[in-house]
Amino acid sequence: MGAFDLKGRVAVVTGGNGGIGLGMARGLAEAGAAVVVAARNREKSAKAVAELRDLGAQAEAIEVNVDDEASVEALVKATLTRFGRLDVLVNNAGINIRKPAESLALKEWHQVLETNLTSAFLSSRACHPVMKRQGGGKIINIGSMMSIFGASFAPAYAASKGGIVQLTRAMASGWAGDNIQVNAVLPGWIDTELTRKAREQVTGLHDNVLRRTPAKRWGVEQDMAGVAVFLASSASDFVTGAAIPVDGGYSIQG
Ligand code: NDP
Repeated sequence: MGAFDLKGRVAVVTGGNGGIGLGMARGLAEAGAAVVVAARNREKSAKAVAELRDLGAQAEAIEVNVDDEASVEALVKATLTRFGRLDVLVNNAGINIRKPAESLALKEWHQVLETNLTSAFLSSRACHPVMKRQGGGKIINIGSMMSIFGASFAPAYAASKGGIVQLTRAMASGWAGDNIQVNAVLPGWIDTELTRKAREQVTGLHDNVLRRTPAKRWGVEQDMAGVAVFLASSASDFVTGAAIPVDGGYSIQG
């Protein structure tokens, strides 16, 4: 369908070499976008790129550490050198350190905030002049159910994901006049490397998620593709500053 067509668009997906990022990258590739897989692990990124190319898309791995301002600036430059434009930024890279607040070290707090929140600010700021010059763009920030709820084992993570929603709203209002739409996606519990670790560390998590999710299953990477295509395409041109749950109903269950 025309409104969802991404042919000729270039999308950068941070953390695009696995999990939710790769699920979104696959959707964007299938809709016609060229995709930059932006992460640190070269081997994983090379595999993801090969997979996206198999879908018929142009794809390239560009190494980045999203915590690092210079590295993020270099990512934007390298994308322009390779593809000549940058239309979509997915701020997806993220980590968690599962400890209660009373035993979380300051260094750990900073690490989570930098990777999950400061990175989205840095990457978006680096893309803004490019998108403005091109006449518009799309920024998709990945929040979490912890953008809405707290969790005793994830104070820094919850703070970062709450912050993502407010950063989304601030940039959406600031850049609407540049025709840049900024939205957040709040995934429910999705089966990825990150949550495989969580299931090992948090007793009862697997069953609690099943019990509480009206859809009665964990999400899978493919569940994230549709919302990425929608928010990256002209179908969402009048949608900005939204925080859209993709959670099998987890967040509406009392
Ligand atoms: P994964 O651990 O599978 O993926 C995380 C990605 O982030 C990896 O691709 C990793 O690549 C990248 N990354 C981490 N740190 C950096 C860094 N400093 N610089 C560049 N890339 C980095 O987790 P998910 O796919 O589950 O998570 C993706 C996003 O979705 C995160 O923001 C997470 O908080 C969020 N989320 C996940 C949920 C879930 O249930 N899975 C639920 C809600 C939100 P590399 O190591 O190669 O750099």
